[in-house]
Amino acid sequence: MLSPGQTAIHPSQIIQFKKKLLAWYELNHRKLPWRETRDPYPIWISEVMLQQTQVKTVTPYFLNFMDRFPTLEAFARADLQTVLKMWEGLGYYARARNFHKAARIIVEEMKGVIPDDFHGFQKLPGIGDYIGSAVQSIAFGRPLAVVDGNVKRVMARLYSMEAPVNKPNSHGQFKALADLHLDRHDPGTFNQAMMELGALVCSPKAPDCNACPMSEFCKAFLSGTVDQFPKRAASRKVPTVHIAAGIVRKNGKVLITRRKLNGLLGGLWEFPGGKLEKGEEASLACIREIKEETGLTVGIDAHLTTIHHAYTHFKIKMDVYDCRYISGRIRLNGPMDFKWIRLTDIDQFAFPKANLKFIPLIREESVLIWNKKK
Ligand code: SF4
Repeated sequence: MLSPGQTAIHPSQIIQFKKKLLAWYELNHRKLPWRETRDPYPIWISEVMLQQTQVKTVTPYFLNFMDRFPTLEAFARADLQTVLKMWEGLGYYARARNFHKAARIIVEEMKGVIPDDFHGFQKLPGIGDYIGSAVQSIAFGRPLAVVDGNVKRVMARLYSMEAPVNKPNSHGQFKALADLHLDRHDPGTFNQAMMELGALVCSPKAPDCNACPMSEFCKAFLSGTVDQFPKRAASRKVPTVHIAAGIVRKNGKVLITRRKLNGLLGGLWEFPGGKLEKGEEASLACIREIKEETGLTVGIDAHLTTIHHAYTHFKIKMDVYDCRYISGRIRLNGPMDFKWIRLTDIDQFAFPKANLKFIPLIREESVLIWNKKK
């Protein structure tokens, strides 16, 4: 399904296109640990991690993960907290939760065998078009084209496509084009080659057209309009949410609460707090939110820091306070669990990135009030 005026490469050229792309990939691809195998389990791990995340970030996580959970069975047996701790810092935690759920279903209901067909695989939690096509094509040689951000960018330039790459309803056009070019004899290598070309040569800001094996087919290059593609629809302004959080101290321990499993950052631990109300002062919001979420009355001893963090659809500004416990017993309203922990044990728990930004600060001996009094 091409837009009006967009013609595909002539069928005879498509054969040339595949040959050139695969020859380029053979010589130039990065040697990555998940490319050494056709075992679907490590390939699946890598593809889950690679969604929205760059190769250099993913590689150490992948190696740690394989080290800790060398088989699907070992992964399925692990408890979710351990999995989230291994995932800490990668973001998009729903990926880890769904992957873990899917592994358990395979072990408990499918004799530990990962389905080798797209439809069977797609019934598992967290398997969408991208993961399904990537794992099935790379591990099992299924003829399914993969479309990620890299592939869209390459296709958009090759065909001077008007379809905005950031609009979900453009996906079908990119999928149809990728499918048209797919090498059905070796779809896994072809898909990886397309993604690699986007990552290494046809990069977002500085495509290296002179080194590109596809330049003779590339409409944008041939017409001198590479800088005009891909097209993007104007995105809405990302709102900033102001949050206050407290490090509540009591008897040498601090309070952490666990987010409910469903929803953003589900299952992760954090320091209690929440959003400021309109016109509210951050320290008062901290006291109010802790009372509402945990039932505890606290007092503020010091403002520790302000951190900023960007999620996909919003940004946060978080004011962090050193709080002393005054009174009350824990009555949770929102979080699914709580713990009083020593700061020396904090590494046993998985926290969102925003919390990880100030945890090194509160570890420092002199920062919290109780330490100052020592
Ligand atoms: Fe991308 Fe340039 Fe290659 Fe076209 S010629 S696919 S714009 S790197």
